[in-house]
Amino acid sequence: MDENIIHLALKNYSALLKRVDDHIRHIEKKYPDKIVCKKGCDSCCKFLTLFPVEAFAISAAFIKLPEETRDIVVKHLKKEEDACPLLIDRTCILYPARPVICRTHGYPIYIEKDGETLVDFCPENFKGMASFPKDILLSIEQLNTTLIAVNRHFLESIETTLPSPERIPISKAIFLLDEME
Ligand code: SF4
Repeated sequence: MDENIIHLALKNYSALLKRVDDHIRHIEKKYPDKIVCKKGCDSCCKFLTLFPVEAFAISAAFIKLPEETRDIVVKHLKKEEDACPLLIDRTCILYPARPVICRTHGYPIYIEKDGETLVDFCPENFKGMASFPKDILLSIEQLNTTLIAVNRHFLESIETTLPSPERIPISKAIFLLDEME
């Protein structure tokens, strides 16, 4: 598929990723000593399911990988492990194109439930912190609502009918572009 078409189809999604990345950068700048997430820490990297827009984006990145690398991923898929197939030597091979959820892993997200704010984050991060200022909390409900809207707009804007259910396992997501061509 033409690069310009891919770029246009992913315009809103790319804007959302930028907003999430900006938020994460803000946290990292504010708490440089409280975050231990680093290359090689793969405990969050489990098998994922993705919205079609995310699947399309990851597939557009996967297709550009060298054949040998793609072959390794295919071998991972055959093992049917719980780990994300995109992990090679404990590193995400599509890190710049990783989905939204992968960008928020480890950082404080929250949901409102029964009048309470429930916060979740990696226990290795933010050690010794008993509470979080509002500006570093990410509402997972708001994020999902935005992602659903971006996904809906994406599905309306592309001319191909995607042979896909609402959520696509990453094992199928990485081959989505091949299916569409
Ligand atoms: S896409 Fe990358 S960051 Fe996300 S779970 Fe897979 S390996 Fe980890």
